[in-house]
Amino acid sequence: MDDCLFCKIIAGDIPSTKVYEDDDVFAFRDINPQAPVHILVVPKEHICCAQAVNESNSACVARCFEAIAKIARAEGLDNGYRVVNNCGADGGQTVMHLHFHLLGGMKFSDKMI
Ligand code: AMP
Ligand code: ZN
Repeated sequence: MDDCLFCKIIAGDIPSTKVYEDDDVFAFRDINPQAPVHILVVPKEHICCAQAVNESNSACVARCFEAIAKIARAEGLDNGYRVVNNCGADGGQTVMHLHFHLLGGMKFSDKMI
């Protein structure tokens, strides 16, 4: 996707603070962190949002969660963390490339669910 911010970051055309990469997943620090640890875990395949996940592309979601477990371990988030996905306009998604926010380094008390 030529005009996708996260595709450009994955390609290295826009700089990022990379924390993890494998064949399917790229992860980097959020530019506007909402927690002491705030990492965006992104499938390399351009999928616009959670609503576009289907049986032919869902393997990359599993790869993202495998990466999340590794990154959390590397970041020392031994006491837990939060994973957030915003989907679409009502979900507050601002970058239309599927991604998971890995948030940690603090205790979250604002529980919606
Ligand atoms: P969302 O609102 O769920 O779509 O999340 C998009 C996230 O991307 C926000 O938390 C932004 O702070 C973050 N973001 C936007 N541009 C960049 C960038 N160039 N590098 C790192 N994070 C970014
Ligand atoms: Zn993209």
